[in-house]
Amino acid sequence: MITDIPDSEFFLDRCVNYHFLALNNLLNILCKFEYMEFEDLECELSDPESEHWESLDIELGNIILLLFNSIENYLKYKISVITPYLLIETPPKDWKWSNKAFHEFYIHPFDSLLKIFAVTNVEPSAHVKQIFEELRVSRNLYIHGTKAAKTTPYKIIEVSYLFLTELWSEIVDNQKISIFQKFLEHGHLEIEEESEAKAGEIMDDHSKIIFFYSFYQKAIGKKKAFKILAIQESVKMHKCLLCESQIGRVLKDSYFAIESKIDEVIICKLCQSDYYMGESQLI
Ligand SMILES: [Zn+2]
Repeated sequence: MITDIPDSEFFLDRCVNYHFLALNNLLNILCKFEYMEFEDLECELSDPESEHWESLDIELGNIILLLFNSIENYLKYKISVITPYLLIETPPKDWKWSNKAFHEFYIHPFDSLLKIFAVTNVEPSAHVKQIFEELRVSRNLYIHGTKAAKTTPYKIIEVSYLFLTELWSEIVDNQKISIFQKFLEHGHLEIEEESEAKAGEIMDDHSKIIFFYSFYQKAIGKKKAFKILAIQESVKMHKCLLCESQIGRVLKDSYFAIESKIDEVIICKLCQSDYYMGESQLI
């Protein structure tokens, strides 16, 4: 008998926490350059030959590791919802008759997990497969320490974006929810009304998610970035009062709130605050 079988939510929790850490570490790196202040740095964010990123090889490698772990745990989560036994690489003919804990079995590596995910959930596009393969190679180079894995902040954001828009599919009450909502549920983001957005050493949680979101806007474009907040293109957008007071010069506007289908409220899809419809018109 196989014992200690993990709950599928365990893998989802890990996916969310790793993803938060990846974005948080990227923010810490970019704050070193006060990245929002320097126009010159803009073009370097996507340049693998930039000496900035070469000198930050270890730090960026760490982020690749976190991102890789996040995606791998999501694959494990979706597969284990069907059955956790699909995660086990050891063929049943080699299983012992006696009790054995789940974590003592060999678990499929990333590429096999992606195949199982594709067969049992949804097949990723050829582009996603190629980008994930690059991520896997970068991660191996970093782990084995044989060669610097050339990457850039924009590349990291592109991988995150593809994961969050093509694989991530969390639904609650028939509504797609974003990883930002999960960050809040996990207690990573405590939104307070009395704080300021700035790229300093002490950064409050609301400033953090505004910076996180700005990464996607800068790397992917404003329109496409909405997809990671699980906002449909046709929906009417409102300003979020709380985000508006926090965006500073990091974002151009705070149109992140949508009307709730259930109550007379609008809900910010970034900071998750909600307001009665009248309040949103006060700005
Ligand atoms: Zn907001």
